[in-house]
Amino acid sequence: MNSPVGEKKRNGSLLHPYTNPVRQQQTGTTLTAKGDGVHVLDGDGKRHLDGMSGLWCASLGYSEPRLVEAARRQMELLPYHQTFDARATAPALELAERLVGLTSEFEFDKVLFANSGSEANDQAAKLIWFYFNAIGKPRKKKLIARTRAYHGVTVMSASLTGLALNHNDFDLPIDRVLHTDCPSYYHYGKPGESESDFVSRIIGNLEALIEREGADTIAAFFAEPIQGAGGVLMPAQGYFERLQEVLTRHGILLVADEVITGFGRTGQMFGSQTLGIKPDIMNIAKAMSSAYLPISATLLSKEISDAIVEGSNRQGMFGHGVTYSGHPVCAAVAIEVLNIMQERDLVGHVREMSPLFLSRLKRMEEHPLVAQSRGVGLLGALEILKDKSRRVSFALTDGIGLVLKQAALDEGLIIRPLLDCVAICPPLVVTPSQIDELFDKLGRALDVTLRTAQ
Ligand code: PLP
Repeated sequence: MNSPVGEKKRNGSLLHPYTNPVRQQQTGTTLTAKGDGVHVLDGDGKRHLDGMSGLWCASLGYSEPRLVEAARRQMELLPYHQTFDARATAPALELAERLVGLTSEFEFDKVLFANSGSEANDQAAKLIWFYFNAIGKPRKKKLIARTRAYHGVTVMSASLTGLALNHNDFDLPIDRVLHTDCPSYYHYGKPGESESDFVSRIIGNLEALIEREGADTIAAFFAEPIQGAGGVLMPAQGYFERLQEVLTRHGILLVADEVITGFGRTGQMFGSQTLGIKPDIMNIAKAMSSAYLPISATLLSKEISDAIVEGSNRQGMFGHGVTYSGHPVCAAVAIEVLNIMQERDLVGHVREMSPLFLSRLKRMEEHPLVAQSRGVGLLGALEILKDKSRRVSFALTDGIGLVLKQAALDEGLIIRPLLDCVAICPPLVVTPSQIDELFDKLGRALDVTLRTAQ
């Protein structure tokens, strides 16, 4: 059914993810009815610049005809077939090859498809356990992630996530997951502590954790190159270098969760390139299909995939797989995303747009509510504080995030308040005038918020 333009709010049977359900019942639901480039239109026709690319994912905007055509062509030819039982469709095969080629500097060997970022992290955990069993190290089972990490919402990926909201009353995290420090110096550096001393301190905490638990019980470390949903948190200078040295020394695998940072967001194809990370496993989703259809993947090093092949042979077969793994229509769209990115040099475009994006972001620090700006490529955040000189946060009950979100919507801008910050992640196809539009609107929304807060 087409969304009826003119109708803005309606209540219904939908349980909205990440929404206060009581408030939603009072305010109703805002209908998103149409997409047009970097803009979306509500049911009443109100137009918004989508400063979040949906949920950090619609990188090519909302009306790329080539993605529609790629899906239509594959739908007509073969709308579905599976990758179980030594069968595959041409798009699934081609996409796996293209992804291995695209990540050649990381030397991945095999690709396992799934449908979402959560599933990619979930299956990575299972594959890690299977790998260590296959190579005769069955005690290596624990997984380390960081506070303020976001890895998804399945039992496993929510356990890896380091946010209370995803654990409280869900009886998570599960036992095999441990959390260590978030590497944001701005947030967790102590007064007077240098950035390199901060890194030494948190790496020391990690070493102490490994010592306590026993390196022979720890399998892998999960990390987003830049922690996204936890607040667009930049790792301290030198953090990943020190981290990787510790992990290598203890035989602990590194999993890069590139669900947000993959496919050009940071100004390189992958955040691991921007941050100098050499992962054993990489998880990708979101912008992989520009969010037009759900698809994700886990990329495995040769050492891991060889062991999985051998272990599976001993079992009789590889005992894992979901119905829609490598779905041909989703894969066809993802291939077309790669074609478009290459033909239009979209990563180059991100590098070209980034200086304007980051300078407009930086200028927002002049606003009384903005304590800090941070960003890379076309990913950014503003720290919103009640008293920026004394670093005092607003109380959750002040509802300042909601005020800012609504003020931005009134201006025709979608942004995402997260804890003490507001995240900004526009489609990668954004133009200079649209970047100006975004920050002009955000500035006016902050002014309204300030007047409300006073
Ligand atoms: N990993 C990261 C870094 C994410 O940002 C997200 C979602 O925002 C996920 C995993 C989970 O992905 P999904 O919502 O597709 O399950």
